[in-house]
Formats: sequence, C-alpha cells, structure tokens
Amino acid sequence: LLLLCSLSVAFIAVRWSASPFNEESLKGARVLVTGASTGIGEQLAYHYARLGAQLVITARRGNVLEEVVRKCREMGAQRAFFMPADMASPSDAERVVQYAIEQLGGLDFLVLNHIGPSPYGMWNGDVEHTRWLLEVNFLSYLQMAQKALPTLEKSKGSIVVVSSLLGKLCGPFALPYAATKFALNGFFGGLQHELAMQKSNVSITMCILGLIDTDSAMEKIKGYINMTAYPAHDAARHIIEAGASRQSETFYPWYTYYACLFRDWFPYFRDQAIQNSYTYNP
Ligand code: NDP
Repeated sequence: LLLLCSLSVAFIAVRWSASPFNEESLKGARVLVTGASTGIGEQLAYHYARLGAQLVITARRGNVLEEVVRKCREMGAQRAFFMPADMASPSDAERVVQYAIEQLGGLDFLVLNHIGPSPYGMWNGDVEHTRWLLEVNFLSYLQMAQKALPTLEKSKGSIVVVSSLLGKLCGPFALPYAATKFALNGFFGGLQHELAMQKSNVSITMCILGLIDTDSAMEKIKGYINMTAYPAHDAARHIIEAGASRQSETFYPWYTYYACLFRDWFPYFRDQAIQNSYTYNP
C-alpha cells in the first residue's frame, strides 16, 4: 500500500510539473467554444477574451450569445462572433465549424463543452431521451471533431473535450447524461491513441470535472446531494490551461483525480460511499 501511495505521489508530481502554461500563446489564437451562452462555456469565452483570443461561440439562444460576444469584445477579444445552433441537428454541428474556420481564417482550439438538458432523478425508462441526448452530448462532438481535424492538423491545434467524473465513475440520478460522458471518454480516449500512432499534430485534452457551481447544475442537485460546488470561473481557467499546454487529461477540482485513481481498489466501500452521499426518500 505504501509503495502504491509513493508511486501515485511521484506520478502526480510529474504530471503537474509538465508543460507550463504560457498565456501569451493564446493571444490571437482562433477558438471555437460550444455551449457558451451560460455556465462554464460562458466563463471559457471570457477567459479566452481576456487572453486576447479570436472567438466564435455557439449555443441555441442567439440573443444570449450576442450579449456574451459584446462582453468578450469589451474584455479584449481580438475578434468575437457568434452562431446560434442546435447540436441535436448534425448539419448545425458541421455548419458551426465551417463558420468558425471561415470567420477566423482557420482554427487552433475546438472546445467542446455543450450539453443538452436532462432530468435529474431515478431513471424513468425513457430510452428516446437517451437517444436524443447521445445526439446532442456525444454525436455532435464527433461531427464537429471530424469537420475540424484537417484544419487543426494544419495549425497544430487542439480539441478540448469537457467531460465529467460521471463519465469515469458510475453514480445514480443522471444515467443518460453519464452514458454520454462515458461515450465521450471512450471515443476521444481512443482517438488520442490513433492520432499519436499517426504522428498527428493535433492534441486532445479530456477534462474531468466534479461538481461546478453553474445555475443548471445547482438547480438539478438541490435536495439530492449536499457537497461543495467549485467555481465555474476557476474550472474554465483550468480547462484553458490544460488545453493550451496540450495535456491529454486534466482533473478539476483536485478530488476528481483521486476518485479516478482509487476507483477500483475497494468496490464495496466505493459503492457504499456513493449511495450514502445522496438523499433518496421514495
Ligand atoms: P450549462 O447547462 O450551464 O450550459 C449548457 C450549455 O449548452 C448552454 O450554453 C446551452 O445554451 C447549451 N446547449 C444546451 N442544449 C443545446 C443544444 N441542443 N444545442 C446547442 N447548445 C446547447 O452546463 P454547465 O456549464 O454546467 O456544463 C458545461 C460542461 O461541463 C458540460 O459538458 C458538462 O457536462 C460539464 N460538467 C459540468 C459539471 C457541473 O457541475 N456544472 C460537472 C461535470 C461536468 P442554450 O440553452 O442557449 O442552447
């Protein structure tokens, strides 16, 4: 046990000393952020703007995006555009990438962050909802990635995928959502191998997030779980740094790393701890 602990500490030290983040590298960077009308995506847009990036942002609500773009310009974005799109539509997903490449004259970062709304609670047996959510939360990510890859290859660019601890560790009450996040981790984890084997210029960063204090997340978990939610502003900064330093996987906040590291060590105690941390009164 002592040996394994020492090894994990050494591993963490190496991991966190790798690839320092250079803010200057994002000045003028051409970035497309999805799900940027609110929550973590909105914070991502503001950070990129302060760092002087060129931005295209997307989500469904054009009027909200317009306001985010206005603030991005004020904050220092070299250029900022928006395009309303519904990621349940495969053609919308492709059109957004095309638009970003045309407006920005190429692409350096494709930041895939959006999620469709999904109920929180015991699974109600609605398979159709899961099918729809897979389209929004998973298939559209693939669609955008395949459309962007040739351009990212030329620019030595990056794909940043915002995922979740619920895509690594099973938990109750968000089954369709978790399924889409497991799918993302499986697909883009495999794509990382294939790109490395092809000696591609493109990096993929998988971001494993714990509970973040966005309005939608806080609304969902109310009455189900009482745990610390970390600030969306910090989560967004962490994601940007990991993407810019081309890390293959990053964890925020700190406990998500340990949850993944020790996931399979004591399954009985893990499952008890998970079930006891939620409130359920049938
Ligand atoms: P929000 O619910 O706050 O934001 C979701 C974004 O996606 C909004 O901009 C929304 O805008 C957009 N969106 C919703 N449906 C569609 C659609 N059909 N087509 C296009 N865009 C759509 O999410 P968070 O900020 O909380 O989460 C962001 C990312 O972080 C997600 O990938 C999530 O899984 C991950 N994460 C979040 C955690 C948390 O606790 N908050 C924990 C772990 C991971 P609009 O309504 O205008 O379309």
